Amino acid sequence: MDFDFDYFVIGAGSGGVRSARIAAGHGAKVGIAEEHRVGGTCVIRGCVPKKLLVIGAHFAEDLEDAARFGWQLGAKRFDWPTLRDNVLAEVDRLNRAYQATLDSHGVESFHARAELAGPQRVRVGDREVTARHVLVATGARPHVPEDIPGAAHGITSNEVFHLDRLPERIAIVGGGYIANEFAGIFHELGCRVTQIVRGNRLLKGWEPALADRLLQIAMQKHLDIRLNCAPTAVERLADGSLRIALASGQAVEADALLWAVGRIPNADGLGLEALGVTRRNRGEIAVDAHGTTSLPWLHAVGDVTDRMQLTPIAIREGHALADTLFGATPWTVDYDHVPSAVFSHPPLASVGLTEPEAREKLGGVRIFTANFRPMKNVLAGRDERALYKLVVDAATDRLVGAHMIGPDAPEILQALAVAVKAGLTKAQLDATVALHPTMAEELVLMR
Ligand code: NDP
Repeated sequence: MDFDFDYFVIGAGSGGVRSARIAAGHGAKVGIAEEHRVGGTCVIRGCVPKKLLVIGAHFAEDLEDAARFGWQLGAKRFDWPTLRDNVLAEVDRLNRAYQATLDSHGVESFHARAELAGPQRVRVGDREVTARHVLVATGARPHVPEDIPGAAHGITSNEVFHLDRLPERIAIVGGGYIANEFAGIFHELGCRVTQIVRGNRLLKGWEPALADRLLQIAMQKHLDIRLNCAPTAVERLADGSLRIALASGQAVEADALLWAVGRIPNADGLGLEALGVTRRNRGEIAVDAHGTTSLPWLHAVGDVTDRMQLTPIAIREGHALADTLFGATPWTVDYDHVPSAVFSHPPLASVGLTEPEAREKLGGVRIFTANFRPMKNVLAGRDERALYKLVVDAATDRLVGAHMIGPDAPEILQALAVAVKAGLTKAQLDATVALHPTMAEELVLMR
């Protein structure tokens, strides 16, 4: 049978664009459809603009600390529209760069919604095309709890980059990645932040000592963090502000509310049901190690699947799948030792097993910690300590986990992740000469 395309990709985010480009590089005839903007969550309304806001917000501390280093600065004033518009202009630039990549690889772009119309058939805009293989890379969207009356008064990470002005008071619901990142951003930018967390700690699943350190630092900075709190209703008051009722009977008043309570896969309305594609209980598309669904011609990568919701994972999955389908060397993604970071103030970064996970899995575990005040914080008079933690398998001396909170922790941890992935031993870290004076030298000085 002759097909219009060898490969048709639905969704031009990180995973879809990479997969389309690699497949085209292998000589496949590729089409890609995107109903919003090419680039997807990470580029348009996620990692990239978020990180730029984190950098912008951090100047608040740097400018304050500069005085202790002898810099006399005039009155400082922050202008939100300047940061917002510069960030959005950078997003536009990246959006064009992603489109240019697709064009230069000969991928045909459809700026329209696409849905599966039948086996190896895709309806895109007002056309129907056939494809030997179809990839669903439609990502995920922020969850807004529908059972909470008035929840729609809140915004999500989709809208947060476009605010007309900064709210004086913002309530953020959630204790995960997005909540902690935006709590830090808004606090640094001068907003009063109340973070509403349903559990008894921040960042469930992260190394507890680091999550506790973030909580301690946040409270020291006067962020109002409410643990064990669940919102039950949201009401708009006469003056335009919001009242968020809590299960405890208390309420939080704020000018804006940000939901950061997880992301749900964009798998509905794609025609998956009619084709009988297997899904998991949150609607995620079930895939095998290659990213192939229960139908041999249909594949899925990234946040729409039942794997990890991280950009570099989606990119790798898309790349591996394209190599497997159209290249000479099939390969699969290795999900062990995936590093990740929370760009809070200060940031956290982590790879491998936490101490509780290692104790459960390995039994004998040796733990090493460095708990110190970075040099810059000492001179700045900033009472904020970094914490590094190494988890070592006692039987083999291998490094099985590394966890850090402190300035530049994600930058440092990326290199350490190589050591964990390579299965290096603690003795090998110890044998490495320290690079002095740095924060990272602590990693080879823990005894
Ligand atoms: P997370 O899964 O990180 O955190 C969700 C938080 O919301 C948890 O604290 C969870 O509580 C809480 N929660 C869930 N449902 C409710 C509810 N109904 N009411 C109150 N609280 C609730 O999700 P995020 O939205 O922060 O981020 C989504 C995903 O995107 C992340 O998991 C991550 O994979 C990815 N991401 C990665 C980033 C990075 O790499 N730096 C940055 C941003 C996002 P509990 O813990 O009790 O379940």
